[in-house]
Amino acid sequence: MLAAAASLLNVPISILDVGEDTPAKQVVVPRAPLTHVDGPFTSPEAIRKLAAQVDVLTIEIEHVNVDVLDEIQRATGIEIHPSPSTIRMIQDKYIQKEHLKRNGLPLADYVAVERSVEGIKKAIAQLGLPLMLKSRTLAYDGRGNYVLKTQDDAAISAALTALADRPLYAERWVPFVKEAAVMVVRTREGIVHAYPLVETVHKDNICHIVFAPFRAPGGVSTRAELIAEEVARTFDGAGVFGVEMFILEDGTVYVNEVAPRPHNSGHYTIEACYTSQYENHLRAILGLPLGDTRMITPSSIMLNLIGTSTDPAPMLAVAEKALTVPGAHVHLYGKTGCRKGRKMGHITIIGETDAECRDRLRPLLETLAASEG
Ligand code: ATP
Ligand code: MG
Ligand code: MG
Repeated sequence: MLAAAASLLNVPISILDVGEDTPAKQVVVPRAPLTHVDGPFTSPEAIRKLAAQVDVLTIEIEHVNVDVLDEIQRATGIEIHPSPSTIRMIQDKYIQKEHLKRNGLPLADYVAVERSVEGIKKAIAQLGLPLMLKSRTLAYDGRGNYVLKTQDDAAISAALTALADRPLYAERWVPFVKEAAVMVVRTREGIVHAYPLVETVHKDNICHIVFAPFRAPGGVSTRAELIAEEVARTFDGAGVFGVEMFILEDGTVYVNEVAPRPHNSGHYTIEACYTSQYENHLRAILGLPLGDTRMITPSSIMLNLIGTSTDPAPMLAVAEKALTVPGAHVHLYGKTGCRKGRKMGHITIIGETDAECRDRLRPLLETLAASEG
């Protein structure tokens, strides 16, 4: 999606990913002297090869080798956005929380945890049960989270086994009524603009549906958007940031975590906003004027197409159904191999009212339910 936005602005790009035929490489043919690079995001050689070709380097996943980015920045002075220091801070969710707390942002209580039965008992004594245990690093789609409900040794050992080999921290359980998110775009100079607050609905810890905008009561949207802008102000470097939040019964907003890149909760912006998160990410990292972050349609819903097994037929059935729904836009990513829990595409519905969007979503959910049996 970033490659597609770059193509419209005639910005030549080079992509680093494993394989010759990855989704972004299907979208853009590199223009000489650029070439795409084949290698993992952790490979120093691959990252150096990419950096040697470009003026501006950005990331779409935070689990990259940040030491090499640091080295490249020192050695070459090319623009890297978000800055390696921002990526490093966000890679470790505990350090990220410490940073957000230092900056006065609203968070659920959390503590560092030593990897032992005693260490976890200490966290339970501080934060109570249920306790949300989290891996500090390499977490996504809830892989890396473990909810501990009792404090007997067997349950704690099971948690340690489930989160084997990972440095841990713990969070107090948040009894949220809704989950929400705000995309924010930040210029190289640190000017920030929020997109509207959206409601995110998760299934099995994976983002399933996004409702935009979030019809939140009493000033919650404005407060959440200001908090998200404040979050983006605290991180160096340009680009878009996804700020995930919890909304409590009384309207309290907590920041859950931050993604320093285009985010699933912002996919709706492609059809529903004046400027998509991808185009604004490019404009920001290239030092171009930012585009308007407001919606151009009163209401929008995004439905993720998530693999149910190695068989893509069920999610393709939903995509096919969407072709018959007015206002529905189908995105299939061209990933090789469908897997249970893998994000294979999404559908964005736009409409004149929330009710119209929900009516348009219904046949898609029915198809999904039927295909899942
Ligand atoms: P992502 O794919 O968004 O990067 P992740 O693996 O980093 O996910 P989190 O966002 O930390 O994980 O948590 C995943 C989900 O778990 C949240 O969206 C929320 O539903 C739930 N969750 C996380 N922290 C808490 C908490 N402290 N209390 C209650 N539920 C929580
Ligand atoms: Mg995360
Ligand atoms: Mg998350």
